[in-house]
Amino acid sequence: MKLVLIGPPAAGKGTQGRKLVERYGVPYLSTGDLLRQHVANETEIGLEIKDIIANGNLIPDAMIIEIVKEKLQMPEFENGYILDGFPRTKIQAEALEEFSSEIDRAIYISVPDKVIMERTRGRLSCEKCGASFNSDSNPPMTYGVCDLCNGSLNQRPDDDTASVFIRLKTFHNADMPLVNYYKSKNLLFQVNGLKSIDEVTKSIILEVGEKA
Ligand code: AMP
Repeated sequence: MKLVLIGPPAAGKGTQGRKLVERYGVPYLSTGDLLRQHVANETEIGLEIKDIIANGNLIPDAMIIEIVKEKLQMPEFENGYILDGFPRTKIQAEALEEFSSEIDRAIYISVPDKVIMERTRGRLSCEKCGASFNSDSNPPMTYGVCDLCNGSLNQRPDDDTASVFIRLKTFHNADMPLVNYYKSKNLLFQVNGLKSIDEVTKSIILEVGEKA
């Protein structure tokens, strides 16, 4: 099963991705989490992209393509994957087709910009596993502690209003053409991200069906 999750920041891609892993038994890969690890570990890549990420812009296509290509060559991805945050441009989508093969479905979780601005204000992300919670709509069981791995929950540096504004603009300019690309290939499924977490998961599973 090869799934790609598309959506604006805080649409619920990470939350759905982690739930779909349980259903389809293939690994979840978030390029945002991967890049934040590079930044936290101050790797060569991390130092190069630190400011780009903090400001809410996309890192260069060639760089992210190389990173994902290398990662997907690992044996754990042999039977497929759930990708969150890649591809984000048509160039990346074409590269993915080349080094992997055609995906089964691209899931576009749509949420209006106004709601995104509200959601990112209350979003708490786990520093360890990247899982997201929301102080209003999806609070963790214990304040400041991740339900999944006990890591600490904090606001992401790029969840401040100014960066979210840029990330939303980037989403409309870069990711929306990708939505149309997958639509033209009959691979797109759009789901209303205003529905509850469980309802969104249910709609995706109904559409995608059993293991491919
Ligand atoms: P995310 O956690 O998916 O919101 O990603 C956080 C940040 O990582 C983005 O704002 C970009 O700076 C960078 N990033 C993640 N995935 C990609 C990608 N496929 N192409 C370019 N930049 C990316």
